[in-house]
Amino acid sequence: MLTKISDSCFYIKGHVNIGYITKNEEGLLIDCGLDKGAAKKIIKILKEHNLPLNYCIITHGHVDHYGGAAQLQKELEIELYSTKLESSFVTNPILEPIYLWNGAMPIKELRNKFLEGEAASIAGFLHEGIQKIGPFLFEVLPFPGHSYGQIGVLIDEILFAADSYFGIDVLKKHKVPFIVDAKETLETLKKILNYSFQGALPGHGDYETDIRETIYANIECHENILKFLSSSFQGQENGISMEDLQSLFFNQFELYPANIGSWLLYRTSFTAYISTLIERGNITISINENKLWLQCS
Ligand SMILES: [Zn+2]
Repeated sequence: MLTKISDSCFYIKGHVNIGYITKNEEGLLIDCGLDKGAAKKIIKILKEHNLPLNYCIITHGHVDHYGGAAQLQKELEIELYSTKLESSFVTNPILEPIYLWNGAMPIKELRNKFLEGEAASIAGFLHEGIQKIGPFLFEVLPFPGHSYGQIGVLIDEILFAADSYFGIDVLKKHKVPFIVDAKETLETLKKILNYSFQGALPGHGDYETDIRETIYANIECHENILKFLSSSFQGQENGISMEDLQSLFFNQFELYPANIGSWLLYRTSFTAYISTLIERGNITISINENKLWLQCS
């Protein structure tokens, strides 16, 4: 279903929300869903409404946001745009399973359509600031934290916020959101509060005109996790191994990953929080008995 936000802006609500803007008989998508099926659905909905499609911005290189691109490019002449870093994942989808598997060649189990999409070609890179694609003039906002080079798109006073924040229900469901950098995630969340717009659409969650409560809930979620990780082994004089702290973390937040892939996604978030606590000077890291070892400082 296509929902209208303003004269030019629309979105298709789904597991991942797809933004759509039309101007001068041209159409721009913001992200394009997980796979071939998602792409076909987008094409069908736009056709039903007689709406054009020429370009697509990929906010970040996670499969649920770019996986449909290859199919879009097979069926239509779509130009794809993203930041330089996130484009690497779109053109080399194996990179996600590689980083989840500690940089080694990933095991077969990780080479599935949720972690490794079909490669698509990129027409050009987006940079921070005002950018133009065809008739579309918009502002690219760097939103790092959930992904290294993630961007938000501010167009016609609507913010397409990607995964810079999650809807409150989504946040509750995931308990621990996927992040690669806790410090940047928090800075991005605080930065969003300073922009003015009529409304914002996250990648996962509802379109809202006032997102303050949702943003505060996201900030609280991350601060709460950081607080747990820095205080959970305070009484242990010798510190704790990173592995043991990770187990405590999984138990505390009741994370029950159903497969290796989701276990690894949580581990990346865990590592991201630990990096920030080390950077903040709350904990130190060393090697003890051949294990990575954490101590409160
Ligand atoms: Zn994402």
